Amino acid sequence: MQNQLSCNQVIALMSFYVEDKLNSRLKEYVDDHLRNCPECRKVYMQSKKIMPHIISLTENLNDSEYQTKQYEDFKLNLSAYIDNELDEHESIRIKKIAISNPLARKDLEDMYTFKRLLHNSFDRTKTEWKNDCSKTVMHKLTDNATAAKKDPLTGIIFGFSALISIIVLGFIAALYF
Ligand SMILES: [Zn+2]
Repeated sequence: MQNQLSCNQVIALMSFYVEDKLNSRLKEYVDDHLRNCPECRKVYMQSKKIMPHIISLTENLNDSEYQTKQYEDFKLNLSAYIDNELDEHESIRIKKIAISNPLARKDLEDMYTFKRLLHNSFDRTKTEWKNDCSKTVMHKLTDNATAAKKDPLTGIIFGFSALISIIVLGFIAALYF
């Protein structure tokens, strides 16, 4: 029975070996070879170090592709979701995407903020209109009052009479003291 693998064969099997994807017989052959071949053992040690990075890299690639698809799905359904036009199953799906995908979550938040702003500005126009009516009346009243105070002619007359009283008082004072 031939159970000796060549170095090339072991190198070819290395990634499967590291990922533990060989059947038990092949795995034993590689084990045997590695025990006796320092060169291949070195390659094995390096592969073992690198492999987790490679795996996570490919997982991230798959993830981002999956997330992009999810996000497209999410964007297509976002306004319907906000307007409660989705059935229960669909709205749960959109909710799940919003929870797992930060981009989607931000979109949803923005959408809600936007809606709230719209709602607020509508409310504001209603109350502001009421305020404006009372404000206009108040403004007219206060404007009249301040206008009377700030009337330039009134100021001049007041100033002039003050000046005259000082002069008259000074004259009287000069006469009697
Ligand atoms: Zn070898």
